[in-house]
Amino acid sequence: MKKKLLIFGSTGSIGTQTLEIVRNHPQRFEVVGLSAYSNYKLLNKQIAEFKPKYATLSNEQVTGNIIGDVKAFYGSQGLIDMASEAEADVALTAIVGLAGLPVTIQCIKKKMTIALANKETLVGGGKVITTMIKEHGVDLIPVDSEHSAIFQCIQNDENKNAIKRIILTASGGPFYGYTKVQLDSVTLPMALKHPNWDMGGKITIDSATMMNKGLEVIEAKWLFGLQADRIDVAIHTKSIVHSMVEFVDGSILSQMGVPDMRIPIQYALTYPERIPCTVPQLDIFSCGALEFYKPDMKTFSLLALAYDALNEGNGKAVILNAANEMAVDAFLKEKISFIDIMEIVNKVYHYMPSIDESDIEDVLLLDKETREYCMDLL
Ligand code: NDP
Ligand code: MG
Repeated sequence: MKKKLLIFGSTGSIGTQTLEIVRNHPQRFEVVGLSAYSNYKLLNKQIAEFKPKYATLSNEQVTGNIIGDVKAFYGSQGLIDMASEAEADVALTAIVGLAGLPVTIQCIKKKMTIALANKETLVGGGKVITTMIKEHGVDLIPVDSEHSAIFQCIQNDENKNAIKRIILTASGGPFYGYTKVQLDSVTLPMALKHPNWDMGGKITIDSATMMNKGLEVIEAKWLFGLQADRIDVAIHTKSIVHSMVEFVDGSILSQMGVPDMRIPIQYALTYPERIPCTVPQLDIFSCGALEFYKPDMKTFSLLALAYDALNEGNGKAVILNAANEMAVDAFLKEKISFIDIMEIVNKVYHYMPSIDESDIEDVLLLDKETREYCMDLL
């Protein structure tokens, strides 16, 4: 039986790599639905190739542009309607930002396995999602490479119960080792040039500010049920060790491989099976020394804010994420400087009062209020 897939954000970096895996394993997967925000040209090409039953374009400004033999949905409600109507085994969530939260919840209600790339959804809606996952008996499988590494290291229950701490590795991004003064003069093209990974714009900037690692610390809390004092970050510039788990007996397990998202994406789709993957193999004899350093959380203060949010309750994570989405968007549009991202996020984070959110409406309201305040500042 083929696994039926719904792919949200199919035109993005993760989405297109997911479709490449499907293309390489047509006997294993069937694409039931695809979604894009505004890139209808690529979406229509994907529809012609993968012949899904459903497709959604969620930016209302491009309504009407889906072509092909599919049932078309439009707008953000279209995403939810597609998830409600489609019968799928796995929903791969690769939308960028908290915009992916409502549809992820709908997929959980439909009891689909969630292969989660869309980390902002878990950062903001972690409590809601993990509660629902338990209620509906659904699997939540990480796609993010660090979390996939940890997930792979704790595959037996003995390991799961004996975790002392986890160590998320971070490349450090293009500005590893920079001082505040040096960061003051970096440009958008410099920030978009990640040394190891080829990714979408938002996460590439998050990697440069190290907010990406901050979001991942919060993502790890929800995925693995760990508090801040059991989640560490180590700079590892080569991105070969994708993360580590230290156990109570002092053993440390890690997962290694070339920095290529197709490995964790494929594992999330085939889990618990492993099958051959077309990415180049890691040559351990040519990768040289593997080194690990402590992160500089003073200069890259957003990582420190993420740890603070872990201790301050869930509302602060919603605020942190919303402010960051707004500031990164402004930087990508060249309205603010790189250092402004950190300053604006810090300001908004400390200004906005937190709430102890208990349902999705609370999360979405706090997200909206934070964005409004942020807009005034910008
Ligand atoms: P991209 O920007 O490359 O792709 C985003 C996808 O989501 C596109 O299909 C885009 O459509 C769609 N989209 C954008 N905004 C919205 C919206 N408001 N509503 C609905 N759909 C939207 O991002 P990535 O693939 O790089 O990242 C996706 C997610 O995966 C992020 O959460 C990221 O943090 C996470 N991730 C990514 C990794 C990577 O290597 N890229 C690694 C680990 C995690 P359109 O093309 O039409 O704009
Ligand atoms: Mg990652």
